[in-house]
Amino acid sequence: MKPAPFDWYGPTTTAEAVDCLAKAGSDGKVLAGGQSLIPMLAMRLAEPKALVDLNAVRELSYIRSGEDGVRVGALTRHAELERHADTQRLVPIVGQGLRNVAHATIRNRGTTVGSIAHADPSGEMTSVLALTGGHVVVQSAQGSRTVGWDDFFVGALESCLQPGELAVEAFFPAMTAKSGSAYVELSRRHGDYAMCGVGAIVEVDESRVTSAKVSFISVTETPIVIDLTDAWNEGAEAAAQVARESIDPVGDIHASAEYRTHLAGVLAVQAIGEAIKHAKERAA
Ligand SMILES: Cc1cc2nc3c(=O)[nH]c(=O)nc-3n(C[C@H](O)[C@H](O)[C@H](O)COP(=O)(O)OP(=O)(O)OC[C@H]3O[C@@H](n4cnc5c(N)ncnc54)[C@H](O)[C@@H]3O)c2cc1C
Repeated sequence: MKPAPFDWYGPTTTAEAVDCLAKAGSDGKVLAGGQSLIPMLAMRLAEPKALVDLNAVRELSYIRSGEDGVRVGALTRHAELERHADTQRLVPIVGQGLRNVAHATIRNRGTTVGSIAHADPSGEMTSVLALTGGHVVVQSAQGSRTVGWDDFFVGALESCLQPGELAVEAFFPAMTAKSGSAYVELSRRHGDYAMCGVGAIVEVDESRVTSAKVSFISVTETPIVIDLTDAWNEGAEAAAQVARESIDPVGDIHASAEYRTHLAGVLAVQAIGEAIKHAKERAA
């Protein structure tokens, strides 16, 4: 199938992009990397009357790092962020999550902010934003607002963005010096969306785990962050059980709800184990 007809707008500044979106109102959609939107248009799962293409808005392609964390502009591709040295140092969970996003070719084009705006329950970067306690900066003709991760995701494929609003930046707070992280998942084929994925950030103080938090994909509608510190210190099976009890997945042709629940327990334990190892490596 081919997309339904639409008007195309090619702004070159953020202000122009916001202006185009304001004019388009509820008929408009942002086009970023197009890795999710173009297939949806081709299958006519979305039929916007106007597309506001961000690809010439160069000022939205940036990664700004400071000791407080990393700010990522709306035109920054997954691949650029994945290879960014300061991001690997300050918030390693970002690169660990990104390496699980699709294939390299898709990461070359897809944007991290677009992935968050898309709010796919299987999108790794939604869970990474949650796990780090990040936020999204949103701009519209009315001004700008900052939305914490826990208010940003409203439902499956649904964010809090209103017609006319552009997500201009995602912020990932820096991880502490005592922390480590890992992202593990299982998919049917390499590069496919995961049947279940788990990101973990832990803090280790002289071999004692003082914090162990996880976030899931493909088993919750919107990202959640679960504190498994006490359960982990009781033992791996206790942590797995709390992980399983924290989610309520639905089954589909790729995996039953029972199997996804089982995976959440296994992968949570694996992710925490790897994150502890990572914390010790970072501290050494
Ligand atoms: C074969 C395949 C496998 C994939 N596997 C994975 C995977 O395993 N994990 C994963 O996370 N992703 C996966 N993806 C999706 C990929 O990561 C996309 O890049 C991402 O979901 C969307 O980013 P994009 O820049 O391509 O956005 P687009 O496709 O351009 O847009 C997606 C949606 O977000 C909106 N949007 C985009 N940017 C903004 C913005 N700045 N402000 C407001 N709204 C915006 C658009 O209007 C649209 O509704 C896969 C894609 C393909 C084709």
